[in-house]
Amino acid sequence: MRQKLAAGNWKMNGTGTALAELEILTQAHGHSGAQILICPPATLLAPAAQITKTTAIALGGQDCHAAASGAHTGDISAEMLKDAGATAVILGHSERRADHGETSDMVCAKTSATWHAGLTAVVCLGETLDQREAGETLAVIGSQLAASLPDGASGSNTVIAYEPVWAIGTGKVPTLEQIAEVHDFLRAELSTRLGAETANAIRLLYGGSVKPGNAAEIFATSNVDGALVGGASLKASDFSPIIAALEAS
Ligand code: PEP
Repeated sequence: MRQKLAAGNWKMNGTGTALAELEILTQAHGHSGAQILICPPATLLAPAAQITKTTAIALGGQDCHAAASGAHTGDISAEMLKDAGATAVILGHSERRADHGETSDMVCAKTSATWHAGLTAVVCLGETLDQREAGETLAVIGSQLAASLPDGASGSNTVIAYEPVWAIGTGKVPTLEQIAEVHDFLRAELSTRLGAETANAIRLLYGGSVKPGNAAEIFATSNVDGALVGGASLKASDFSPIIAALEAS
């Protein structure tokens, strides 16, 4: 059985006052049946860890360098994220791929570094609107998956997040059939590469404009094990009903 996962990506949002939202979530869902992962800005990881330390809520980074340490001004390593309280790292988010030119090969190296530090990699994949309209969605997803994932993926070190680029922060959501098509494809691709047992242990998240109003139907979709949520994870009043929908699914 794959444990359901609700992951919140705060992106570059939040100073110390934002931790009040984490306090509320911790009180409401600190011992949830679903796994909850909050990925705040790196500056908030250590104080966030103080809030979540006696609960089941996990913390994650939003990116890491492929090296453990060294002369890389402004970067952060998986070891540093772990030291601050993270147990996971989001990698290959489309905003990193677009804003920082991250290729799947770079994501692959970062995933290896994440595993080496003992953290779980949340590897993001997704097609642009042009690619979808050109009928290239599965080809794009397949090649991103193949190139972003090093050998050695397992249910404990890897989560895959399908995030159509055109659905992130836009309020546009694929149809449930479109989500199912990609998630079923991802499961089959993982199975071909890793064998059915390992593939069946890897959680597949959907991400892109998940809101309290659409969460339940998305969670009922084939091979969807949870969500990676951006905007609606910033306020406990939005994220809490999404977690509740996941728990009820
Ligand atoms: C994201 O950035 O990972 C995301 C899914 O954003 P949003 O939920 O705001 O679309």
